[in-house]
Amino acid sequence: MKRTLNKVLVIGLGLIGGSFAKALKARHLVDEVIGYDLHPAECELGLQLGVIDKQATSLLDAVAEADLVMLAVPVKAMESLLETIAPALRSDTLLTDAGSTKMNIIEAAQRVFSVVPGNFVPGHPIAGAEKSGVSAANADLFERHKVILTPLPDTSSLAVTLISELWQSLGAEVLQMEPQRHDEVLAATSHLPHLLAFSLVDTLAHEEENKDIFRYAAGGFRDFTRIAASDPVMWHDICQANRDALLDQIDQFTTGLSRLRQAIDTEDGQTLLGIFTRARIAREYFSTLLTGTAYELPSPNSPSIAPVKGEDNPGE
Ligand code: NAD
Repeated sequence: MKRTLNKVLVIGLGLIGGSFAKALKARHLVDEVIGYDLHPAECELGLQLGVIDKQATSLLDAVAEADLVMLAVPVKAMESLLETIAPALRSDTLLTDAGSTKMNIIEAAQRVFSVVPGNFVPGHPIAGAEKSGVSAANADLFERHKVILTPLPDTSSLAVTLISELWQSLGAEVLQMEPQRHDEVLAATSHLPHLLAFSLVDTLAHEEENKDIFRYAAGGFRDFTRIAASDPVMWHDICQANRDALLDQIDQFTTGLSRLRQAIDTEDGQTLLGIFTRARIAREYFSTLLTGTAYELPSPNSPSIAPVKGEDNPGE
């Protein structure tokens, strides 16, 4: 049986929550979009900007009357928020989130509810920006972007269908993944690249000659500085929430960087050319995947990214 969603409550009216609210309103998908934020000024601004219809004065009253509750707060804030709202959730309230990590939020829900509610559909929109706050809300942020849902075996299939259809109505392509796999994939494709940007920009900013480094910044470094301008609290939370998968990726990257360093030090041109060639071929391989609908990483054993002939590859 189909359900209509009349009232949607967005908790955490920042870039993602604000964009979700604004997108729902712009497409007239629900009757009322209510906003709640730890900082009431964000909701007041959200009202002024037409991002929400109403500002929640009491969080628990707003939860009790909502058909759908979207949690869009930093990932380490999810557990205490779940604890606060748990008593007001109705048995038929749909609950979802937009957090960048999934296992920690599912474990938090397990601690709060003992059994993760069947109406909770964990999710992660793969869309964003280096901006934060409701003033950056964009009704088209999710258009042609992927949203990964990580339902559990006991998640209600009706709830998954409703959340999927809602994201699709916002122009997103919805995929499903095991939560653990989600965290591993995102550690490699998003979390590690962000950490490299933070580390590179922080390291270079400490250099004596830093003015010149920033003054003459060309394309590559400019992109790193853009990524490194991402919200510090959000990334602090992601590092703690996805610790194990991230440490794994950092270790693999450190091994790869050491190999590159050694090849430069020993003037081992064959290894250098091997690394650069493989990386270039990998990009071509990724381009095909990026234009398709799959969200799978190529296997390291894929023939197209195998080591070039004659090159030592300690990674395999
Ligand atoms: P943001 O900083 O723009 O907004 C977060 C909002 O949550 C802020 O307005 C803050 O005041 C509010 N907040 C914090 N704790 C709260 C609480 N306990 N109760 C109510 N409100 C609270 O951050 P964002 O970029 O919108 O990120 C929100 C979530 O979406 C995070 O979990 C993040 O991991 C995830 N996400 C972010 C991006 C991105 O690129 N920014 C992309 C995908 C997913």
